[in-house]
Amino acid sequence: MFLNIKNKIINILNLFLDLIYNKKCLICSCAKTDELLCKNCAKDIHYLSNYAHKIFNNIPFYSATLYEGNIKKLIHKLKFNHRKQAAIPLAQILFKYFKNIKQEKDYIIIYPSSYFLKSAQRGYDHMYLIVKEFSKLTNFEINKKLIKKIKYTKPQYKAKNRHKNIKNSFKINEKEIKNIKNKTILLIDDITTSGATLEEIINLLLKYNINEIICLTIAKT
Ligand SMILES: [Zn+2]
Repeated sequence: MFLNIKNKIINILNLFLDLIYNKKCLICSCAKTDELLCKNCAKDIHYLSNYAHKIFNNIPFYSATLYEGNIKKLIHKLKFNHRKQAAIPLAQILFKYFKNIKQEKDYIIIYPSSYFLKSAQRGYDHMYLIVKEFSKLTNFEINKKLIKKIKYTKPQYKAKNRHKNIKNSFKINEKEIKNIKNKTILLIDDITTSGATLEEIINLLLKYNINEIICLTIAKT
C-alpha cells in the first residue's frame, strides 16, 4: 500500500519533470535540440549488423545495439527512474534498426508484459510504453492479450538459472490466436541476455503452431 502511494507520488513528480524537461536531452539535459536524445548523445549508440545474431528453433533473433553506454542509461531511466519519456528515443532506436531488417510482411507486435503486480508497483508496464511508441512509427498493431505473464520472476544474474527461473511463467490466451492468423509475430523485448524469456515465449507459441516469428530487442548483453 505504502509502496503504491510512494510510486504514485514519484509518477506525479516525474510528470512535472517531463513537462519541465520536455525539450531536454534525457541523458545530458542539454536543450540545444528539442529531441529527447540529443545528437551528441545519440552518437554513442552503435547499431549492430542487420543479421540475426542467433537462430532458435528456426526463429531469428535481432538486436539493435549492445547493452552499454547511453542505451543502458535510457533503459535504466525508463525502468528504474520513472522517466516514461525514455520509451520514445528507445522506440526510435529500435525503429531505425528495424527498417534494415524489415520484409514485406503483415506484422503484429507482442511483448513480454510485466507481471501485473510489478506493473502496479512501478505504475506502468515499461515494455508497453516502448511497443506503443514503436507501433506509432510502424503502424503495426499490438496484441496485448495473446501472451500473459502469470508468475513473478526475480531478475536472475546467473545465466544458468535463467531458463529454470522463467519456466512456465507465461500463458497463451487461446481466444486471441484467431486474431494473429496469417500475421508475422514481431516479438519485442528491451534486453536479451541468455534469451531465456524470449525462448520460453517462442516455445509456447510453437506449441500452438504459431511459427512465423521474428525476435527483436533493443539491446543485447
Ligand atoms: Zn544529450
